[in-house]
Amino acid sequence: MTTALIQALDAQLQQLEAKGLRRKLRIAETACAPTVQVDGRDMLAFCSNDYLGLAAHPKIAEALCEGVALYGAGSGASHLISGHTRAHAQLEERLAAFVAPHLESPRAMYFSTGFMANQAILTALGGADTEIFSEALNHASLIDGARLSRSKIHVYPHGDCDALAGLLAASTAAIKLVVTDSVFSMDGDLAPLPELLALCEQHGAWLLVDDAHGFGVLGENGRGALEHFSLRSPYLIYMGTLGKAAGVSGAFVAAHETVIEWLLQKARAYIYTTASPPLLAHALMTSLAIIEGEEGMQRRAHLQELIRHFKQSLALQHWQLVPSMTAIQPVIIGSNVPAMQVAARLHADGMWVPAIRPPTVPVDTARLRVTLSASHTFEQVGRLAQALNAYEAAALTEAAA
Ligand SMILES: *Cc1c(COP(=O)(O)O)cnc(C)c1O
Repeated sequence: MTTALIQALDAQLQQLEAKGLRRKLRIAETACAPTVQVDGRDMLAFCSNDYLGLAAHPKIAEALCEGVALYGAGSGASHLISGHTRAHAQLEERLAAFVAPHLESPRAMYFSTGFMANQAILTALGGADTEIFSEALNHASLIDGARLSRSKIHVYPHGDCDALAGLLAASTAAIKLVVTDSVFSMDGDLAPLPELLALCEQHGAWLLVDDAHGFGVLGENGRGALEHFSLRSPYLIYMGTLGKAAGVSGAFVAAHETVIEWLLQKARAYIYTTASPPLLAHALMTSLAIIEGEEGMQRRAHLQELIRHFKQSLALQHWQLVPSMTAIQPVIIGSNVPAMQVAARLHADGMWVPAIRPPTVPVDTARLRVTLSASHTFEQVGRLAQALNAYEAAALTEAAA
């Protein structure tokens, strides 16, 4: 039976479809890697955030098996009841030590997801006495966390430190919290963290850095955006995710031990959820060891060379690369329909690159979000670049005819 409620939803779904905005799932049949089988077809993929190629690393898979032998499958309870295992505690110590050069008296706290970690930080530090200063291109989890915190929110324009300075100077809030992605997920560019941190120190504000796309990848040792910019400050609150470059799942917050103790008391997204399976924390220690070690260094170096190779191989006239030095290398096409057509042509040629449209990105900046991974080869990246060059040339010829 179709109720009126279902009919109303169906009508709205059809509207999305008509606007070309209805999202669809694709089913990957194989592990996350440059070549994947999707809906029964072998594809060369440029869509994952598996920047170091660790998602299917045999040593991490082995550590997961070891973890299940040690701890079984589930944690059985939330952290503050009985779900906080030795694996969780060890991982938190390792993570705190890893980012220690950049923070004062650091402690780390492991979360099931980055989405929850952001929500936890913002709601625990937010409230009537708090004003949040949020970068315009921040990730959805930061936007939602800020709203949920019931703080007053000021959105400052992308990368605009002068605007932020004005807002901070005008604020009389007892607690000021500046919130930014380090690497913007749809553009790949970096936030001006040194300038932002200087402003925060000057105005006595926290700087929450969401390093989802930097942790493991940026910095000589993979410590992320803080290492990349050589920052250290007691005003920093650092959020790194562990499902992207680290190849597993989860996230962590690292900050002064008092901040973490406060989160432990107040963060509902930590307190009222079952602790993630201990085997994940156990395997993440192997992932961290790879990131920190020689292999991580080599993977980061290879990724940098792939990024250079991709940029050098592209010869675009109208479509534009975003100025990005990271593994996120979007190609801006412009309007939605051509962007979808290019993605469909790539797909037909066996290459999987997601097209990103508004409202995820601003109107008329529909793009292909190319992400590179250390597990790609030069040949694979070259193949994508050549295809894009050829499609653009064909599109220009068609337009001229
Ligand atoms: C992916 C992402 C998150 C969420 O992390 P998950 O662990 O996937 O929930 C948060 N912030 C940014 C910028 C992200 O790209």
